[in-house]
Amino acid sequence: MTSEPLPPALPVTDRTRHRRLREQGSLDRAELEAILDAGFVCHLGVVLDGRPVVVPTVYGRDERWLYLHGSVASRSLAGDTPVCVTVTHVDGLVLARSVFEHGVNYRSAMVHGTARKVTDPEEKLAGLRLLTEHATPGQWAYARQPSRKELAATTLLALSLEEASVKTRSGAPDDGDGPDAGLGLWAGVLPLAAAWGEPAADPALPAGIAVPEHIARRAGTRHG
Ligand SMILES: Cc1cc2nc3c(=O)[nH]c(=O)nc-3n(C[C@H](O)[C@H](O)[C@H](O)COP(=O)(O)OP(=O)(O)OC[C@H]3O[C@@H](n4cnc5c(N)ncnc54)[C@H](O)[C@@H]3O)c2cc1C
Repeated sequence: MTSEPLPPALPVTDRTRHRRLREQGSLDRAELEAILDAGFVCHLGVVLDGRPVVVPTVYGRDERWLYLHGSVASRSLAGDTPVCVTVTHVDGLVLARSVFEHGVNYRSAMVHGTARKVTDPEEKLAGLRLLTEHATPGQWAYARQPSRKELAATTLLALSLEEASVKTRSGAPDDGDGPDAGLGLWAGVLPLAAAWGEPAADPALPAGIAVPEHIARRAGTRHG
């Protein structure tokens, strides 16, 4: 395992080279990190028994590694096999004059590599903490820590953030200055935003247990 910092520019490799819609690509690692930090659900693509499967799962990260976790029984978390992980944020529908020019405003990241199973107990605990904190900052310290048995039942995978790509689209439809601009049809963007709702207490909760501040303060705030 290496902890060397990664370069500020994303590498252009055979796998990460944008071939289509290149103008939407970016080589800025800071942009990759912003996309990863804006979400907590990714899609893990892996080939199992010769067939691709794509598994939605949560993640956390540090500067160097993307961490994924799950049951030791999970075949998609076997490790030591090539994987591709994507994180996607949809910012709106791009409604053009022609159906052909319709699109999506988005921010997306793709990470390629071979994930390793984390066996070092210290890194495993630190990775699980990152994962928990990524989705709910403040929750690792608030909730009960994992027991030895729970840790043994959990697989943690680490995927290097070295070989990754970014693509984004923003703004108006592309046919505002083409022949279709004269059709007299409405065109524009329908924005999409997700927000956190009010915390709903577990009905099994005894009276008098208040919503902790780190959860309460997220209500009404934007996600993504
Ligand atoms: C929400 C959403 C909806 C989309 N809808 C469509 C659609 O309907 N039709 C369509 O053609 N395209 C769509 N795209 C764009 C799509 O993801 C691809 O970028 C595009 O189709 C080119 O695919 P390709 O296999 O030819 O990529 P290539 O250019 O051959 O891909 C080469 C490499 O570029 C990188 N790359 C490619 N796409 C992305 C990406 N989205 N994010 C990060 N890295 C990337 C990867 O590292 C990949 O291995 C959508 C994207 C998003 C996020």
